Amino acid sequence: MRADAACVAAVDEARAALAELTEDGDVGEYVRYVVEGDRLVTHVFSCTRRGYRDWLWAVTVTRASRQRNVTVNESVLLPGINALVAPSWVPYRDRLQSGDVGPGDVLPVHEDDPRLVPGWLSGDDAVEVMRDDSSLRPVVDEVGLGRVRVLSLEGRDDAAARWYSGEHGPGAAVAQAASDPCRTCGFLVRLAGPLSTVFGVCANEVALDDGRVVSYDHGCGAHSQVSFGRSAESQSLPALMFDTEAVDAFELA
Ligand code: SF4
Repeated sequence: MRADAACVAAVDEARAALAELTEDGDVGEYVRYVVEGDRLVTHVFSCTRRGYRDWLWAVTVTRASRQRNVTVNESVLLPGINALVAPSWVPYRDRLQSGDVGPGDVLPVHEDDPRLVPGWLSGDDAVEVMRDDSSLRPVVDEVGLGRVRVLSLEGRDDAAARWYSGEHGPGAAVAQAASDPCRTCGFLVRLAGPLSTVFGVCANEVALDDGRVVSYDHGCGAHSQVSFGRSAESQSLPALMFDTEAVDAFELA
């Protein structure tokens, strides 16, 4: 694109425009010009305002066709490559992490949350069976067994992947060191529904996972079939003997 000579030469006009907008000492050296289009050039100046290190003033000038006068189109302050800028905006729903919701906090779920589907689309198995039975359907609705929304397949898969790959799956250090899996543990409480094929709930109060969902191939040292080895059993001690070679001190009750 051909640079318009009159626009390129209008450095003083650009600096004068900045002088009207800024305070004394805010505008530094002339840096460069950028041809933006036909008779449209941006002049760039360094910014010397405190706190704006590596920021740049940009003044765009233009000229009407067959006119000699150059006019200022716009002026802005722009960050340079090494300028300190705020991090890019992350939507509120993407910023939330597990554990961010404290007591009393309210976290609305979006209508289009892919983890949920309407209850009539993919409901609880037991409730669905009852709904299919026309004689039971009024009872189901009346006692409120049906839920407006339930976990979608995607939500269920997300949860399963999260649980399985976390501290309650087979890869956890405590599971790697365990001799037996949760599958054979008497403290495992079975779940209902599709997730029950892989997960249960640990109900051993002395286990790290007490009250948590664990995969069948997780495990820990508190497995119900773990027994003490011989060395851990109480050992019988020899009978007490008096030392007959020295004076023993006794405390009388
Ligand atoms: S006690 Fe240990 S092995 Fe048993 S269910 Fe809990 S985590 Fe699994």
